[in-house]
Amino acid sequence: QCPWGAPNTTSISCSLADVMSEQLAKELQLEEENAAFPEVVAVAEGPFITGENIDTSSDLMLAQMLQMEFDREYDAQLRREEKKINGDSKVSISFENYRKVHPYDSDSSEDEVDWQDTRHDPYRADKPTTTPRKGFIGKGKDITTKHDEVVCGRKNTARMENFAPEFQVGDGIGMDLKLSNQVFNALKQHAYSEERRSARLHEKKEHSTAEKAVDPKTRLLLYKMVNAGMLETITGCISTGKESVVFHAYGGKSATEDKVIPPECAIKVFKTTLNEFKNRDKYIKDDYRFKDRFSKLNPRKIIRMWAEKEMHNLTRMQNAGIPCPQVVILKKHVLVMSFIGQDQIPAPKLKDVTLSSEDMKKAYYQILDMMQQLYKECNLVHADLSEYNMLWHDGKVWLIDVSQSVEPTHPHGLEFLFRDCRNVSQFFQKGGVAEALNERELFNAVSGLNITADNEVDFQAEIEALEKMNEDHVQNHGKKLSMFSSDGDPPIYDE
Ligand code: ADP
Ligand code: MN
Repeated sequence: QCPWGAPNTTSISCSLADVMSEQLAKELQLEEENAAFPEVVAVAEGPFITGENIDTSSDLMLAQMLQMEFDREYDAQLRREEKKINGDSKVSISFENYRKVHPYDSDSSEDEVDWQDTRHDPYRADKPTTTPRKGFIGKGKDITTKHDEVVCGRKNTARMENFAPEFQVGDGIGMDLKLSNQVFNALKQHAYSEERRSARLHEKKEHSTAEKAVDPKTRLLLYKMVNAGMLETITGCISTGKESVVFHAYGGKSATEDKVIPPECAIKVFKTTLNEFKNRDKYIKDDYRFKDRFSKLNPRKIIRMWAEKEMHNLTRMQNAGIPCPQVVILKKHVLVMSFIGQDQIPAPKLKDVTLSSEDMKKAYYQILDMMQQLYKECNLVHADLSEYNMLWHDGKVWLIDVSQSVEPTHPHGLEFLFRDCRNVSQFFQKGGVAEALNERELFNAVSGLNITADNEVDFQAEIEALEKMNEDHVQNHGKKLSMFSSDGDPPIYDE
């Protein structure tokens, strides 16, 4: 009997030879390291990408945003040097041609992000080479394992690349610097806690700015506008609706002399998630202006068409002198216009403002006027007119939200107009404006038509009959009937 008792042989799961094996040790060590330094590029992505919109193109976007930021800093440095060289001298030299940020291009209706610069980044040192993953290089006696002090030190230096981008590592990566494990581990600890801290900070910032409500591509678009100096700053979100998000921004400098950017702007971002737009098809599908294009388009382009429609409609209104936002620029699904309001505070909607009975009456007559102008001069029906889309600013009513507006000859144009009239009538009748016409009278007053039905059902039936007549005319003659003649007489529907 053995004095130390019987050895429990079953608990040995591997042989002594295995345990002592250099090879196994290396493998274990490598495994451990791989776990400690997973090959995640995601570290760099972390703070910038939020929500559900992580797609494969976001690496590209990130790179582009960084490059732009970089270019901006470069330009700032250039300006400082320019200033230093020129001093008070009467003759000055300009570094203008060396600038990297160039005025915002408003050209392309191109599909993808048009800013693509793959220049080699001159500021970044080449990475020092590291030993390959297998843990050793060379053969036989010349084998160098990763435990070699020098190699290990270099490798540690190279690993600083894994730290978050905002973690300043100085020139170490470029030099032949060898970090001992101890130093490296201390740095690593610090870097990771910094990263967590900065992620927290960034999170806070994101919640307070415009950025959270839009996808990366849109953010890049907005970023470009700011970067080009067209917008000074985007201060925050005014409204998040089903179909759009609206931001406030301070205007910047225009690239061209003739165009003035308003001091305060509203940025309407049409949402690129499509579900909400499905039920709006009828507005655009039947709008002959967009008819040819509709069938061929992909959903993303349809969204852009809404933005385009709003722009065109606003321009028409502007030309007729109707108080409405002024178009600044349209870029893809992002429409920048003048801000109705002041000091970041948007003008209140008519539904939210309490007007004196005098102002109420004034507002009513103004709207009556605007509806007629819209119909006769702009050849448009608002199609979503209500106290929600009228703002009270500067003692008058401003019309907004015209992406769904259509021409009166739209197959449902008159129905839309009737709905608008009903909203307006009801609002002002409830608001105590005794003079307010009822919806049928208002419809006739705006359209110049003379529908005599004295009840809503018959009235609507007549409207639909008119629309159908017009459609048939289009079918038979390939062109629309004029809804109104130039001298202001009611339109002639019969031939
Ligand atoms: P939606 O289709 O989401 O209703 P709107 O164009 O009506 O889009 O904009 C939503 C809200 O944003 C408006 O109710 C208004 O409060 C605000 N808004 C939109 N455009 C402007 C602008 N140019 N100036 C000030 N506020 C605006
Ligand atoms: Mn609206």
